[in-house]
Amino acid sequence: MESAKSCHKCGGRMAQGISLGRDSGGGQVVAQWYPGKPERNWAGMLMIDKKQLSDVIAYRCERCHLIDFYAE
Ligand SMILES: [Zn+2]
Repeated sequence: MESAKSCHKCGGRMAQGISLGRDSGGGQVVAQWYPGKPERNWAGMLMIDKKQLSDVIAYRCERCHLIDFYAE
């Protein structure tokens, strides 16, 4: 069951979706949330503990198009 969320701006119905980005190869990737500040190693690569990543769920208001992000 999809939990019913309503827009905090206009009270409209929120449709569940995902937020997509593109990786360096042009493929589609789902946006993720990670705690803390970005830390990089000597090569400039982000230091990430993959166990702490959460997929970002995006709810879009069908009336005013506001987007709310949740990391569930
Ligand atoms: Zn709205």
